Amino acid sequence: MKSNRLNYNLFKLGKNYMANEKRNNELVYSFKCPSCQEGTINIFKSIYDLPDGDKMLILKFECNACNFHKNDVIPLTTNIEPGIMTLHILDDNDLKSKIYRSPVGKLEIPELELIVEPGPRADFYYTNVQGILFRFENAVSIYSKNLEEDDPEKSEIDELMFNLKQAIEGKFKFTLKITDPEGGSYIIPQDESKYTFEKIKKKELE
Ligand SMILES: [Zn+2]
Repeated sequence: MKSNRLNYNLFKLGKNYMANEKRNNELVYSFKCPSCQEGTINIFKSIYDLPDGDKMLILKFECNACNFHKNDVIPLTTNIEPGIMTLHILDDNDLKSKIYRSPVGKLEIPELELIVEPGPRADFYYTNVQGILFRFENAVSIYSKNLEEDDPEKSEIDELMFNLKQAIEGKFKFTLKITDPEGGSYIIPQDESKYTFEKIKKKELE
């Protein structure tokens, strides 16, 4: 399957691209570092051609003052098929699986009743599973603080918070599902056997 091959290439790429010589390295954007508040983060982009013709965009974030650095790998080829990606997270290793949710992708964790709906203002996510849980934890914590102590919803939210914390530590089994009608999202699993991809036709979504 195409998407699996792509995922495999991403694995290889992730392991090898640091060793490859730099090319097309282009400064695209700079902003103040949120980590040290002093330095400037420069974003460099480079394009990599994979042996099978796919192209990858690599964005490198580097602060010139502190140690902050980060690499994002984004597939540029549009031939990733629309589909439903499902990843079963059973242990803390699975939490390291990489996730990229495009603006049209819907992300769900059914066991925790958490959903990120697609939309023009929806954040692009390129993070790992744990990163997504942290964002949810942050959002739920803000929500919880605004509840009165005697709010009937309080116990429900407390339970959700408990499960979220367990999930972040790899002690709560759950499913992460991305439904993407246009095929821009992807999951790069740590363990391929816990990942499934189900093709969808555009018609079925209408
Ligand atoms: Zn910095």
